[in-house]
Amino acid sequence: MRARAIIHLDNFLQNVAFVKKLTGKPICVPVKTDAYGHGAVEIAKAALNAGVSCLGVAAAAEGTELRKNGISCPILLFSQPNPNEIPEIFDSNLTPFISDFGFVDALNKYAAAKNTKISVHIKIDTGMGRLGCSPEEALPLAKHIRNCPALNLAGVATHFAASDSFKKDDKTFTQLQISRFKDAVQAIRDAGIDPGIVHAANSGAVLLHPDSWFDMVRPGILLYGYAIAEEDKPEYYSQIKPVMELRAAVSLIKPIKKGVSVSYDRIWTAPNDTDIAVLSIGYGDGLPRLASNRWAAMINGKAYSLAGRICMDQCCVDIEQDKTVSQWDEAVIFGGLAQDAATLAQVIGTIPYEITCNINKRVERIYIGN
Ligand SMILES: *Cc1c(COP(=O)(O)O)cnc(C)c1O
Repeated sequence: MRARAIIHLDNFLQNVAFVKKLTGKPICVPVKTDAYGHGAVEIAKAALNAGVSCLGVAAAAEGTELRKNGISCPILLFSQPNPNEIPEIFDSNLTPFISDFGFVDALNKYAAAKNTKISVHIKIDTGMGRLGCSPEEALPLAKHIRNCPALNLAGVATHFAASDSFKKDDKTFTQLQISRFKDAVQAIRDAGIDPGIVHAANSGAVLLHPDSWFDMVRPGILLYGYAIAEEDKPEYYSQIKPVMELRAAVSLIKPIKKGVSVSYDRIWTAPNDTDIAVLSIGYGDGLPRLASNRWAAMINGKAYSLAGRICMDQCCVDIEQDKTVSQWDEAVIFGGLAQDAATLAQVIGTIPYEITCNINKRVERIYIGN
């Protein structure tokens, strides 16, 4: 196998248990982008076996894939769907987030014509500045939904812009979002409308803002094993375990002479006579090209530096004439015994979400530990 992602379901379940114990709330597991690259169907099944109450997707097609694989729990559709996805939303029994009156009308019209019903959640923009209605519009929208016989208001949600930040003004901003959200939910209740499940907390808010937990929490990255980047690692850190481990094979070993360059653009030349191991993984698999010359792979428990540009399908490491490395040994790129995807993300200036989401589908996922 040239490149594979070992998905440690035991670690995922441990992370779920951590969030359950910490919050004591029902959990909605975001499985959008193929569960952040981990495989939506397998992650969903593991999550549901662990007592998770619902799942979240960003595209109707992602919800349909789960339904085709026998998943029957509520599936929230976080993103604003295109009107042409409405039939699929009904067929797959998805629960869309509502930001505007037009979408309510479109859903109601379709439901009335098909003589069917649908549950929806109102999404309120309390400061993210993206999807959602304004806090003032939430009550009118709730009233409008109440007046649509085919629609059932099953929840009210918001999303935080900076809940994972330790900066004082970001914390204050999150508190402002929470208070705007509470006020909007209260206005709905005061009008005699049941808001359904009230939910807001993403990973950052689960860890840093207990007053945002409400009736359900929606942590994604935390369940996939990456806590908040902090200098001062708190004790919960040791309880959060990265779920993905990326591996490749040593496909060729060869000696090269001092001064010889390796790979595209000749950005690395051998400082001494050495041996190069070619690994069967590249940016086409999702190993970021920006990590060229800036990362190391673990082979048999020892770290070896990447040498030269990461190519589409290959990269190279300098194994320094270490004769313990053999052709077809396995190299760990991140996770497992190597540094994790969050550290790789930090090295190249991005976030772990982007690293795991970008692991290409040609990298086989192997599920272990459940
Ligand atoms: C992706 C997403 C989450 C999870 O965010 P994390 O930062 O991964 O915890 C929660 N809610 C919504 C609406 C999302 O789109």
